[in-house]
Amino acid sequence: MLWCIQLGDNVPGALPRGRSCARGPQTFPPGLPSVSTVTYVITGSCCKDSSCIPVCPVQCIRPRPGDPDFTTAEQLYIDPATCIDCGACMDECPVGVIHGEWDLPDELGEHLTLNRDYFAANPIEASSPPDRVRRRLPAGRPVLSVAIIGTGPAGCYAAAGLSEIKGVTVSMFDRLPTPFGLVRAGVAPDHANTKLIAKRFQSVLGRPNVRCFFNVEVGRDVAIDELLAYHHAVLWAGGAPDDRQLAIPGEGLDGCVSAREFVAWYNGHPDGTGRNFDLSGSRAVVIGNGNVALDVARILAQPVEVLGPTELADHALEALRHSTIADVVVTGRRGPEFAAYSSGELVGLDRAGIAMRAKPDEVRGLSGSGDRSARVLAAAAATPDPGPTRTVTLRFGLTPESIEGSDRVEAVTFRRADGTTEVIEASLVVRAIGYRGRRVPGLPFDELAGTFSHRAGRVVDPTTGEPVPGIYCSGWIKRGATGTIGTNKTDSAETVDSLLHDLEVGGLADPTYDMGQLDKFVRSRQPDVVDKDGWSRIDQAERSAGRASRRPRVKLVTVEALLAASRMPA
Ligand code: NAP
Repeated sequence: MLWCIQLGDNVPGALPRGRSCARGPQTFPPGLPSVSTVTYVITGSCCKDSSCIPVCPVQCIRPRPGDPDFTTAEQLYIDPATCIDCGACMDECPVGVIHGEWDLPDELGEHLTLNRDYFAANPIEASSPPDRVRRRLPAGRPVLSVAIIGTGPAGCYAAAGLSEIKGVTVSMFDRLPTPFGLVRAGVAPDHANTKLIAKRFQSVLGRPNVRCFFNVEVGRDVAIDELLAYHHAVLWAGGAPDDRQLAIPGEGLDGCVSAREFVAWYNGHPDGTGRNFDLSGSRAVVIGNGNVALDVARILAQPVEVLGPTELADHALEALRHSTIADVVVTGRRGPEFAAYSSGELVGLDRAGIAMRAKPDEVRGLSGSGDRSARVLAAAAATPDPGPTRTVTLRFGLTPESIEGSDRVEAVTFRRADGTTEVIEASLVVRAIGYRGRRVPGLPFDELAGTFSHRAGRVVDPTTGEPVPGIYCSGWIKRGATGTIGTNKTDSAETVDSLLHDLEVGGLADPTYDMGQLDKFVRSRQPDVVDKDGWSRIDQAERSAGRASRRPRVKLVTVEALLAASRMPA
C-alpha cells in the first residue's frame, strides 16, 4: 500500500500545512507506525553551501555555519535519529547528493555509517529552523548598486545575497564570454553532480535586477574607478588566477606544467585551448597532495570511455585517447595523515575503478586508524602489481628537489626526511601545489598570502588600516585558494554584511553617473560584450551539440566560437 505522510501541525517538526511530502508517496509495510524511519544521507560530493540547513524543519543537519567544525568538516551530515523523512533537504540540495536510504547506491552505502558516526561523536538536540532574515536597505538609502567582478561561486553567492534585497542592482562582469568561473572551468568534468550548482547560479543571473557584462575585462576594457563612478561599490571576486611556484631547478623545462594549465585544457577554458601536453611517455608525476592533484590523476588514469560522455573538452578527449601514460604517481611531501585531499575524493578515485598502489612503509602510520582514506591506502599498499593496466601510485614523504632533463622533463628528484633521495622518471610533471591570487593594479595586495589585504571583505590599505572606499572582495582573492564551492557562501555573506553596514553608516558615496548609461559606456569600450541573452544562446548551442552525443554539453573552447554562438539567432 502507498502512503504519503503529512505530519499534523501539532507534531514537532511538522511540514507547513499544504506542503506535500517532497518525495511523493512512499511504501511502508502494513502495521508500521505512521511516521517513517527512513532517513536521508548526504554523500561525499556535498558542496557544503548549507542550503539544506534552513529548510530542515527539525534542524538535524550538522555542522552549521558557525559551528566549531564547520570549516574543517569534509561534508554535512544528517542525524538519522532526528530526521523526519520530509525530503526538504533533498529537494534543496544544489548538487543532488542527498539520497534517501532506499535509493542510496550500493557504492555509497558507507555514508550511512559516516552519518551515524558523526552524530555518535557530536550528539545534537533538535532545534527549530533559524529565522530567515529578510534583509532591507537602510531607511534613507533606498538604492544600492554593486559591480561584481568575477562570476564564479564567490561572485554568484555575493550576487545572490545582494540581489534578493529590494532596491539593489547588481552588474556582473567576467573576462570570459561565459559565467560560473571554476564551476565551468575548474570542477572536473566527471564530477557532474558538483556542476549542478550552476543551475542555482543561473537562477541568480536571471533575476531582473542582475545585469551581465561578460567578455569584459576589468583593468583592460574598463577601470575599477570607472565602475565605481556608476556604482556605490565594486566587489572583486576574481579568484586566484596564478600558481604557486616550486622554486626548484628545472621547473621551467618543457613538460613541467601547472595543474591550472592542465585543468584549463581539459575543461575547455579558452586559455587552455591550443595547448599540447605530451602524453606519449609511460609515467606522469603529479606534485602535491590536494584535491586538484587527485582530479588531474583521475583524468589521466581513467579510460576515455568513462570520460567520453562528460563535458570534457573534445581536444582533451582526443589527446587522452592516444595517451600512453600507464602510471600516474601522485606525490605528497608529508605523510598521508597530512594529505590535503578530502577522503571522499580519495575514495572516489578508488571507486572510479582505477588500480591504485601505495608503498606499505609510507602508509603504515595510517593503516591502523580505520578511517576511509586509511582503508583505501592500505588496500592500495596490499595490491600486487596490477599488470598492464593504468595505475595511480600514491607516494608520501617526498619533497621535490629538482626537475631533471636536458631540453625537456625526464625525471624528478625527491628528498626524503632521512636525507636520502629518490629519482622518479617521468615525461610529464604536473605541479598541483595550489593557486595564488594576482595583484590588481591600484589595490593593496598581501604578497605573502597572495590575497587582497582586507578586513571582513573590505579591502584595506595595510599601512594605514583604512578601508579603500567602495572596494570589497570575496572568494579566493580574499581568503586564499581554500575550501569547497559552498565555503564561498559564508565568505560572500560576510562581505555583503560589511558592504551593507558601510552603506548604513554613510560610508559609500553615491555614484557619479546614472546606471542607465552603464550599458552604453561598457559597449563603447568592448563592443563584443555578452549579456544574459548572449550567454543563453551559448548555453543552448553547447547543450544541443551535447544532445546528439548524449553528453551534458559540447564546450565551445575559443572566445571567437563563444562570441559567434552568442550572436546566433535564437
Ligand atoms: P591544496 O588543497 O592547497 O593542496 C596543495 C598541495 O600541494 C598540498 O598537498 C601541499 O602540501 C602541496 N604543496 C604545496 N607546496 C608544495 C611544495 N613546494 N612542494 C610539494 N608540495 C607542495 O590545493 P589544491 O589541490 O590546488 O586545491 C585548491 C582548493 O580547491 C582546495 O581547497 C581544494 O579542496 C579545492 N578543490 C576541491 C575539490 C573537490 O572538492 N572535489 C576539487 C578541486 C579543488 P602541504 O600540505 O605539505 O603544504
